[in-house]
Amino acid sequence: MPATPPSLLTYYEASAQYPPEQPALHGQVRADVCVIGAGLAGLSAALQLAERGYRVAVLEGGRIASGASGRNGGQALPGVAASQHKLAQLVGAANARAIWDISVAGLDLMRRRVAKHQIDCHWVSGHLLAATRPRHLSELDQLQDELQGYGYRQLQRLDRAGISQLVASRRYLGALYDGQAFHLHPLRYALGLARACLQAGVVIYEGTRALDWHNTNDGPLVRTREGKLQCRQLLLAGNALLGHTAPPLARKLMSVGTYMIATEPLGEARARALITNNAAVADQNWIIDYFRRSADHRLLFGGRVSYGGLDPQAGSTATRRRMLRVFPQLAEVRIDYSWGGYLDITRNRAPHFGRLAPDVWFLQGFSGHGLALTGIAGQIVAEAIAGSTERFDVFARIPHRDFPGGRLLRRPALMLAMLWYRLRDLL
Ligand SMILES: Cc1cc2nc3c(=O)[nH]c(=O)nc-3n(C[C@H](O)[C@H](O)[C@H](O)COP(=O)(O)OP(=O)(O)OC[C@H]3O[C@@H](n4cnc5c(N)ncnc54)[C@H](O)[C@@H]3O)c2cc1C
Repeated sequence: MPATPPSLLTYYEASAQYPPEQPALHGQVRADVCVIGAGLAGLSAALQLAERGYRVAVLEGGRIASGASGRNGGQALPGVAASQHKLAQLVGAANARAIWDISVAGLDLMRRRVAKHQIDCHWVSGHLLAATRPRHLSELDQLQDELQGYGYRQLQRLDRAGISQLVASRRYLGALYDGQAFHLHPLRYALGLARACLQAGVVIYEGTRALDWHNTNDGPLVRTREGKLQCRQLLLAGNALLGHTAPPLARKLMSVGTYMIATEPLGEARARALITNNAAVADQNWIIDYFRRSADHRLLFGGRVSYGGLDPQAGSTATRRRMLRVFPQLAEVRIDYSWGGYLDITRNRAPHFGRLAPDVWFLQGFSGHGLALTGIAGQIVAEAIAGSTERFDVFARIPHRDFPGGRLLRRPALMLAMLWYRLRDLL
């Protein structure tokens, strides 16, 4: 069966309704806060700031949620991409614990926003972290102990028989089920947040890339191709796509391409048989496979990474191959959609929040674990802009280093490091 995707749209684009296109910025305008980037981090901050009475303008180079926020795996998980153990090494046990608690509050915030703004985003509870190697099983036990020590009690450990009752694959040796985590249609969720922003008075300029900014007596002045935005506070939330707009931030990030595919609709019974409890599933390898059922009974599957830009055709073939390792029974199933997106990876996999100047804030580096964390990150940066920096500072304390090798050599250096981790996955 051919793996060629017949559609250039992502599955999410094909199954979401955009609000009316927002006009680009022309001429000079003013706002209290300018947010660069209408991904989940920027939209969340904009909404929170507007609710606090700020005049907010968002500059978005493409369409709303056209970056990772509208094309991701849809798994809303607590924690950050770095392990709690790693965080404790970086900022001490108390701060690591505080970060965990904030991330759990991020899940609640999503729940409240979905309810308050009536966002129809195909919400489903439950996530399975699944072991493919014997050493993963002891890692699951450690993780469960560690999180129960935090008072996080939504976890259930499954053995091989337990996981095989839930996931129709021979690949898994056990799993940890998290009943508080959930999955959803990320683009529908992001567009719902954008609608809430517009209703709260946020002005979003689509097709408006911020080129640069400089300080004036009035605060940062942001320049776009056909306009200028004078603001008092500036939030950089362009993440992996911000690039040359903020070189000091770009040095801390590696943008890595990654892929997803969506099968043809399988029919309810067949889809249900693949994952009987309808949880999202991810394995514990460095380069993870993750998958879930969609509301229209497809399998959505993601995981492969690429370091030299996105190649949707090669990505589709390789991702399908990975899907068939998990579910060989889908060999004759057609792939209807295939797409890629950029992950925003920091060296230590911890998120990178901070300030470039007293009135210039940034949120980036969610390292592939940003669906839930971006929301609460937007809330805490809004709090900080309003003068209460306590929760923001917990994150801003995390030390971050530039990727080594300068502009030319950092990608080969990362490829070598990833090759090592891939070998570790294989052995
Ligand atoms: C394929 C894939 C699967 C993933 N799966 C998961 C998952 O299952 N669970 C999870 O937790 N995380 C996942 N992630 C990660 C998660 O999607 C991201 O961490 C999160 O969406 C980051 O949100 P953001 O708002 O910071 O960035 P983005 O969503 O990338 O938004 C940044 C926006 O800023 C705009 N922009 C950038 N520079 C400028 C500029 N100069 N001027 C104007 N606009 C600009 C971009 O166009 C973009 O719209 C996945 C990511 C990918 C790519």
